Amino acid sequence: MATHQPNCEICQRIAQCEAGTHAGLIAELDTGWAVLGDSQQFRGYSLLLCKTPATELHELPRGTRLRYLEEMAQLAEAVAKATGAHKLNYECLGNMVHHLHFHVFPRQASESQPKLPVWVQMHQAGSKEALASALEPARDGQLIASIRDALHKVRAGSE
Ligand SMILES: [Zn+2]
Repeated sequence: MATHQPNCEICQRIAQCEAGTHAGLIAELDTGWAVLGDSQQFRGYSLLLCKTPATELHELPRGTRLRYLEEMAQLAEAVAKATGAHKLNYECLGNMVHHLHFHVFPRQASESQPKLPVWVQMHQAGSKEALASALEPARDGQLIASIRDALHKVRAGSE
């Protein structure tokens, strides 16, 4: 059974969030940190990094688990509102980095391959296309602010 790798990539991202140095930081929530993804090939792609370094969702105490899922859904709603997504895709994988995190991908009706999952469409790391769609604070700051604003409204309306 996979176990959390101490100071894993997610732990390091969380440390950046705590220090205020994460370029994609959207907001701190009760159970996690909402951040914009490194790749913006799917514009608005965001993650919820769990503060608890659990490997599996079922390892979280029930109250934390439900709160984490609720906050993931809140982030997803905010991403949908900020991007005008046609559909959302949710993924919780962690096969390489065993620290609970959810991916939220906005999908658009205009996509050429709407039946394919995101991972098989991602540009090859280091390619010109991947570099062109990488998170860029100067370009993506407004998007981050829009998701943050929508998230605050979603949370204010649901709690
Ligand atoms: Zn970790």
